[in-house]
Amino acid sequence: MPPIQSPISKDSSILIVGAGVFGLSTALHLAQDGYTNITVLDRENVPSPYSAGNDLNKIVRAEYEDPFYTELALDAIKKWQTPFWAPYIRLTGYVLATSASSPSKARDSLHKSFLSINTHPAFPPASFSPVTTAQDIRHAAPMLEGPMEGWTGYINKYAGYARAAKALEHAAAVCSDLGVKLVTGDDGYAIEVLYTAAGKECIGVKTKSGTTHTASKTVICLGAHIGTLLPGIAQQVTAKSWAVAHIQLTASEAEAMRGCPVVNCRDLGFFFEPDDDTHKIKLCANGAGYTNYVSNAGSGKKLSVPSTSIVGIPREDENLIKRLIAETIPRFVGRELIDRFICWCSDAANSDYVIDFVPGCGGLVVVTGDSGHAFKMLPIAGKWVQQVLEAGMQSTRRWKWKVSVKGSEDISWRVGHVQDIKDVQMSKVTKL
Ligand SMILES: Cc1cc2nc3c(=O)[nH]c(=O)nc-3n(C[C@H](O)[C@H](O)[C@H](O)COP(=O)(O)OP(=O)(O)OC[C@H]3O[C@@H](n4cnc5c(N)ncnc54)[C@H](O)[C@@H]3O)c2cc1C
Repeated sequence: MPPIQSPISKDSSILIVGAGVFGLSTALHLAQDGYTNITVLDRENVPSPYSAGNDLNKIVRAEYEDPFYTELALDAIKKWQTPFWAPYIRLTGYVLATSASSPSKARDSLHKSFLSINTHPAFPPASFSPVTTAQDIRHAAPMLEGPMEGWTGYINKYAGYARAAKALEHAAAVCSDLGVKLVTGDDGYAIEVLYTAAGKECIGVKTKSGTTHTASKTVICLGAHIGTLLPGIAQQVTAKSWAVAHIQLTASEAEAMRGCPVVNCRDLGFFFEPDDDTHKIKLCANGAGYTNYVSNAGSGKKLSVPSTSIVGIPREDENLIKRLIAETIPRFVGRELIDRFICWCSDAANSDYVIDFVPGCGGLVVVTGDSGHAFKMLPIAGKWVQQVLEAGMQSTRRWKWKVSVKGSEDISWRVGHVQDIKDVQMSKVTKL
């Protein structure tokens, strides 16, 4: 049995460490429900460059290999369409496909994901259409004029993307309006978790400036960075990264791409319609992800942590992004790849989130294991954390703290092999 947690009331002090997707959603849910003593810490202003959610856009879709998440994503999609979130969602549709050279693993995963939605009553009529030839894609999205030879999959009209960084800014602004105290910079940069002398109770965190923030409940939501504060979490989640790049369009080119569905080729990568303000198209490479293992000074064990010194993106990923452009929007082949970076998340072997009290330690909750699929849950994730805080325990088995789990190297829905970022050739060349 987990230790019984002390109950909370609306004026209990709650410290949320990390103002990314999970942290802001938690603060928002608590504040909207009348909690009056909430502090959120982050090492940077929202949206933080260290948040995986700080991006032009993120896919919002409900197909999953695991239908448990389909239900949650459908709930989130409903919430995205409410007035609070509606300015930040675009249901442009979603092309999910595999290329002619795709490994069978990608095709199997696509098929399993489709099974989670194809007869689901929540989808409006005529939400899906099959892709058996490139013409099926061009018919639905004429701006995709590329060859897409041998692409197969389907189009899902009840999906699209969130304007990610803007949605985070909105959540933070509303939190502030509701009285949430947001502390950023060195005063918000947590470097140590503080415990009572007996070590049985968490009392808050110490930050880089030397300030201590104490609270009756501390909720740690550091995304890929969680291992830097709680190295013991490494057996459950692994920091992994993927390449992101952009191409700059002119206003008229962007106009011609307007309404383009999100295109996700499981063995190449994905991209979005151009951003309204910047006219940039964001592209990401698909793959198994890159770790960055270092020796943990405390335990001597190896721990993957986001790297701050990496410049550019892996050559392999740059090639995938180039192929994706050539297959779909070849008129932009040769366009410079700009704003390139690798984006880190906290990956769990089974892609399940971990939202639970840390066993044997009162007052400390972790929210992690986003596994690269939590942005879409921004409008609802905080509710799950609130439930755990109020119940004093996690009752959803799959989201419990896990004592031992299989490694997170071979994820069923990802293609390729995990590599350490230090072992791969990086591309610092900016021209295609
Ligand atoms: C390449 C890529 C593409 C993705 N695409 C999608 C998508 O299309 N759709 C989707 O739904 N999801 C997507 N995701 C996943 C999504 O971005 C994450 O699931 C989500 O951002 C995780 O939220 P989080 O709160 O756990 O972490 P984050 O959003 O990363 O936030 C962590 C926060 O902790 C802060 N922090 C770190 N260290 C400290 C410290 N020591 N002290 C204080 N603050 C600290 C950071 O500044 C940051 O604000 C993608 C992820 C990646 C990597």
